[in-house]
Amino acid sequence: MNRALRLRSLITCLAFTFPHAAAAQALNPPPDPRFKADILVIAPHPDDESTIAGYLAKAVLDEHRHVAVVFTTRGDAGQNLVGYEQARSLAEIREMETRQALASIGITNVWFIRAPDTWAQDVSDVLRSLETSNHGSALGEGVRFIRLTRPEVVIAMLPATVVGENHEDHQASGVIATEAFDLAGDPTKFPEQVAAPEDHLWYGNLMEGLHTWQPKKLYYYTDASHFEFMNGKGPEYSMTAVSPSQHVSYARLAAKELSFHLTQYGDAPAQALATGNLHDFDQPLPFVLAKSLVGGGSVTGDIMDGIRPGAIQFAPVRGYRPENTGPLSIELGEGWAFYKRFYPAHNLDVMSTLLAPELGVGSGSHFPVMLVLHNETDKAVTFRLHTQLPPGWSVDSTSQQHSHPWPVSEFATPAHSDYPVRIRLVAPRLSQSQWQMISWTADADGQQVGPATLHVYVGGQ
Ligand SMILES: [Zn+2]
Repeated sequence: MNRALRLRSLITCLAFTFPHAAAAQALNPPPDPRFKADILVIAPHPDDESTIAGYLAKAVLDEHRHVAVVFTTRGDAGQNLVGYEQARSLAEIREMETRQALASIGITNVWFIRAPDTWAQDVSDVLRSLETSNHGSALGEGVRFIRLTRPEVVIAMLPATVVGENHEDHQASGVIATEAFDLAGDPTKFPEQVAAPEDHLWYGNLMEGLHTWQPKKLYYYTDASHFEFMNGKGPEYSMTAVSPSQHVSYARLAAKELSFHLTQYGDAPAQALATGNLHDFDQPLPFVLAKSLVGGGSVTGDIMDGIRPGAIQFAPVRGYRPENTGPLSIELGEGWAFYKRFYPAHNLDVMSTLLAPELGVGSGSHFPVMLVLHNETDKAVTFRLHTQLPPGWSVDSTSQQHSHPWPVSEFATPAHSDYPVRIRLVAPRLSQSQWQMISWTADADGQQVGPATLHVYVGGQ
């Protein structure tokens, strides 16, 4: 009998000798204290944790919270300001930069799901990133990290298309975090993760031995360029406030955290720290309370308000319910169509009222908008689509144009079918940035259908 076998035999004997202790541990093991988190952040890229680094510094250094961070990607598609390394080599560097950055504010439990970094397009679409991240695989990882860290609170990026939001990976990580929040407590989801290993003191076990876990609160943050829609929807933290334990402002701690991301920012954060010009870091930091499963505390109260130790019951969400939109309808497609169904399915009541569909585009830019025409009737219907554009706009192209010249297009839609339509628009050249509204209506089977409306923020030249 070799040494490992002898050891195993001894351990087996001990378990047999103390059956009650062994059984108690198997049924209800406490979380591994090295990994138990008060807050789990699920972020998309290295540096997206930096957006909330001021708050995380407060939670860890002043409130002694345990914080862990999971990144869905490693930022491998980005630029390198300090060297030639790119792609996978850049990912290795960014992973290390991120670990050093988070260590500077006391966070050392950091994991990477390693979904590919999507190259940002002119118009982001969350579905594209969910595709490249192999959605189900990334979600399984997200659920695993919630079950491992058993967080009280999950913080993620806002799953919404909002002006200033510059990357579809940001939205996709928010979708994955939300889904994981809602699935981690369900033993029928990724059941291999929560099955007991046959013998955890021996090798080759495939059952993972985790336990279901229902987090208690979900918060979102965003890199949007406007924040007024978040007013009153969650807490806001001052970044000019001084950390009682560190004796410097949270803005300074955030700048220090960002300074480790050299491939993305070079020495700019270090310069800001040296000169004391912390304007980019001292703006108030708002969050949206996406949902809370515990009583106590107000919507705008502290992120940890109402949190009591211990597990709560699994809280199933509503799930998708078929809508009753009428026999003929028109809606914005892809990401917008998804979010319209995603929010109610995941009990994100605040999100359904937070934002009208909006998009930021550059002055004079060409960009696509997807529409979907729905025919729920028993017969084929032709939709005659009208695009209402403000002055200076034009249509570049529309898929499936027929006899009518722009701005009318006809789409023969079979019974019980959806007709996806892509319209490429050309924004006007504006001297000053401004909001404009585009809408679509259709004549179909003698009815007026719509409108579907999109608020567009056109950047100035
Ligand atoms: Zn990012």
